[in-house]
Amino acid sequence: MVNNTPRHVVEGEVVDTSALISWPLERLFGSLASPKQKNELITNHPERMDIIDAIEIKWENPDKESIKKITDISKETGDIAGLSQIDIEILALAIENDCILITDDYRMQNIAEYSKIEWRSVNTDGIKNIWEWEIVCIGCKMVNKTPDKPSDKKNDLGECLECGTKLKIRKKK
Ligand SMILES: [Zn+2]
Repeated sequence: MVNNTPRHVVEGEVVDTSALISWPLERLFGSLASPKQKNELITNHPERMDIIDAIEIKWENPDKESIKKITDISKETGDIAGLSQIDIEILALAIENDCILITDDYRMQNIAEYSKIEWRSVNTDGIKNIWEWEIVCIGCKMVNKTPDKPSDKKNDLGECLECGTKLKIRKKK
């Protein structure tokens, strides 16, 4: 019997884009990721994509139900304001396939904790506690409503409804 799968690899983890970029290839073998991450790599890290192409990454889209589940949870925690659509899809892939999530993003780790997704960090120690966030105005300090959908541009939360000044995200006390 021929078995081409190397024995020492860990398979079936969902990897975020920083893992795709910085993890050794043997760790990535057989991992799950979203086709949107593939596009991200092609655009921003084409030389890395050439290498990634040589190993078996499973590029899969999560189903609508898992995306909704993750979106609802991140609205609850307030993390949605700091997450991109790609982040949501990566989390959805992990919950749908019951996989370990590999990410350094604190917000994604936070949602993973809430959703009972097992996670590990790529480079950092990761979070120790579950966090909740709120959106405040840097001008008048009013707490604004948490948005219903992920932000189009990371770190752009829009303007204060009260005074029009930029908003920022902060940890709820
Ligand atoms: Zn304001």
